[in-house]
Formats: sequence, C-alpha cells, structure tokens
Amino acid sequence: MIVTGSTLDDTDRAIALCRQHPHALRATAGVHPHHATSLQEHDSERLSEQLSDPMVVAAGESGLDYFRNFSQPAEQRRAFELQLGLAERQQKPLFLHHRGAQVDFFAMLRAHPRVASRAVLHCFTEGQAMLEDCLALGLSIGVTGWICDERRGQALRDVAPHIPADRLMLETDAPYLLPRTLRPKPAHRRNEQHSCRRSS
Ligand SMILES: [Zn+2]
Repeated sequence: MIVTGSTLDDTDRAIALCRQHPHALRATAGVHPHHATSLQEHDSERLSEQLSDPMVVAAGESGLDYFRNFSQPAEQRRAFELQLGLAERQQKPLFLHHRGAQVDFFAMLRAHPRVASRAVLHCFTEGQAMLEDCLALGLSIGVTGWICDERRGQALRDVAPHIPADRLMLETDAPYLLPRTLRPKPAHRRNEQHSCRRSS
C-alpha cells in the first residue's frame, strides 16, 4: 500500500508509518496543490531528503487544482514546478493530482517529458479527449471507486475500455471515495474494510 504525503509534515508521518510496517507500506513525498502555499523555496532541501528516503517510492501527491483553489494558482504552479524538478533530478515516478487546470497542467508536464513518461494521474475522472492527451504524454491512469458512482462516474465508465491495460492502475484513494455500490455500506463512511471475502 502506498501512503500518500500531502505536506512536508505529512510526508514525515507517512515515512514513519512505513518504517513500522515495512513489509506492507511505502510512501510518496510531496505537497498537494491545496497546500502549495506551504511549500517554499527553502523547503526544497527537506523535500529532496524525504524523496531519497528508502521508504519513498514516488514524488507527490503534486499537481494543480483550480477547482478548489485552496492555494492561489500561481502558488500551485510554483510548487508543482519545484516538485517536477526534484522528481526529474531524483528520477522518481510522480503521483499526480489534477482538477480544472488542464491547459497549465499539460504545458508544465510537457516541459518535463521524462517525468511525465513515468507519472500516474491519480483518480482520473475525465473523458476521452483528456485521456488521449494523458496517454500521448506517457501518463498512467489511476482509476478509483469514482467509477462506481452512478451520478458522476458515467464519463469514466465510457472511457475505461480505452485505457490500455499496461497504463491502467487501480487505486482506492482510501479513506476517501467510498464506492457508492459497496454493500453493506460501512456506518463510518470511510473507504476502508477490515475483512476480505475471497471470491472464487
Ligand atoms: Zn488527489
């Protein structure tokens, strides 16, 4: 399981958790676009050290989110550019977040083709045109339980057959995105399950 870092402090906690369960967990090291403002130039050394930790298998979660704009777009671009540069220098795969920032997002990725070719766009929810742009850049496509959402998931269900099998990654996004078709629905509403049933 991959424990996602979304701030520098989060990343430290993710790495510590991985050390407690090294047989099961690995981490990403990065700053989510929501928290872009918290990543400053002088933090790049700390992030760089986190990226080189043996428990860290990818850079991110990083990218652009103009849908929520919890950080200003210019701040998001600055933080994303910094992380693209670090991922490139350390040759780490990149775990990407995108919402509502298509033009800037692709322009920035195109400027870093080596990073783009080993990146995954997590929780892909868009349609065919966006999928084609992603595949042309070499991105892998992360699909979550969003696909089970009968209200919002139709576009994704339509394009899913066009995702090449070797570029498709399944993810839970736990504890978020509880699949709406899950039965019985857990009372806590968190996307986690404590027991597994084996199907034959
Ligand atoms: Zn995300």
